[in-house]
Amino acid sequence: MFEKIVNFIKSLYPAENPVPLHAPRFSGNEKKYLIDCIDTTYVSYVGQYVTRFEDEIRHYTGAKYAAAVSSGTAALHVALILAEVSPGDEVITQPLTFVATANAISYCSAQPIFVDVERSTLGLDPDKLNDFLINNGILKSDGRCYNKTTGRKIAACVPTHTLGHPVRIDQIIQICQRFQIPVVEDAAEALGSFYKGQHAGTFGDIGILSFNGNKPVTTGGGGMVITNNEDIAKRAKHLTTTAKQPHPWEFNHDCVGYNYRLPNINAAVGCAQMEDFYHVLENKRQTAQMYRDFFKNLDVIFVSEPENAKSNYWLNAIVLKDRQKRDQFLEFSNQNGVQVRPVWTLMNHLPMYRNCQTTVIDNAQWFENHVVNIPSSVRKRDFN
Ligand SMILES: *Cc1c(COP(=O)(O)O)cnc(C)c1O
Repeated sequence: MFEKIVNFIKSLYPAENPVPLHAPRFSGNEKKYLIDCIDTTYVSYVGQYVTRFEDEIRHYTGAKYAAAVSSGTAALHVALILAEVSPGDEVITQPLTFVATANAISYCSAQPIFVDVERSTLGLDPDKLNDFLINNGILKSDGRCYNKTTGRKIAACVPTHTLGHPVRIDQIIQICQRFQIPVVEDAAEALGSFYKGQHAGTFGDIGILSFNGNKPVTTGGGGMVITNNEDIAKRAKHLTTTAKQPHPWEFNHDCVGYNYRLPNINAAVGCAQMEDFYHVLENKRQTAQMYRDFFKNLDVIFVSEPENAKSNYWLNAIVLKDRQKRDQFLEFSNQNGVQVRPVWTLMNHLPMYRNCQTTVIDNAQWFENHVVNIPSSVRKRDFN
């Protein structure tokens, strides 16, 4: 069976050996815009491409405001600061996510709490979130939710749209509103993913995107803070540009800011990438359909988009019978020219997060044991 799978994947990507998990592609105006940056000398923090890229993302996602930053991780960090996460606070997130989600919480000197994901979305389970908050949360006179066990404020909730599949974000927001908990959506993997017709990352108080090299749209490295809140948007821009007060020559900074700006040269690549993102998405969704049809005949579960969602299928995934099968397939496929990988080691299994409060996480554990991500780059054949 493994051989069949590997051969099928090779047939989807005939030109590549080994077949990468997710390779970037540059087939539009990337070079032209980069040359423009160099010719005009606007390679750094001044230049037209940053604003243009922000506008592209605003229009595409429907978010009212967007602030481009140097990485998705930086975007998460700033988003949590803007959600007023403070040292000693706690932030609810999911154990099944990329480490940046939990790290950004740590950058605020706050502690993650890990609540299980659900099988259908791979994202934070609203019912388990509700159970957790009913059993552990208490609203105090300052109007905020505190953890009964630790006495700490639960300052935010960060669900991830895992592998590009939208989480049940409307439910999560409803629950969090009841407990006065701001929601920061980690939509790093979800550009092009929609839930009930609305773009992922635009439901919560703040959303973040990543443009790392392996994401559906890349700027080399980069990220974006998106929000519908004007005040948050202004502060996002200010904080990520060293909190410098506008002045033609004076250097005045009114708080500790960050050098998290996205350079013009990176934004230029992003502008070019957005120009044919529609085709990229179509191609990726076609690939997912081909995988779905193929795996149906093999008695292997292919991870499909959840109900009410249109997913970008950032990374396609299959579910193998057990951990041993998973490991055998990882070994076989990687040795035979097809890059595959397991999902992330769960956050609560990493040394720095081992002692964090964690609910029963049967589903996350099930994914860790069974899921393998398979190649998901844009297929070149039907693409020009
Ligand atoms: C990629 C990713 C990030 C971080 O983005 P970078 O741009 O690599 O810093 C955060 N969260 C998730 C879920 C990601 O996949």
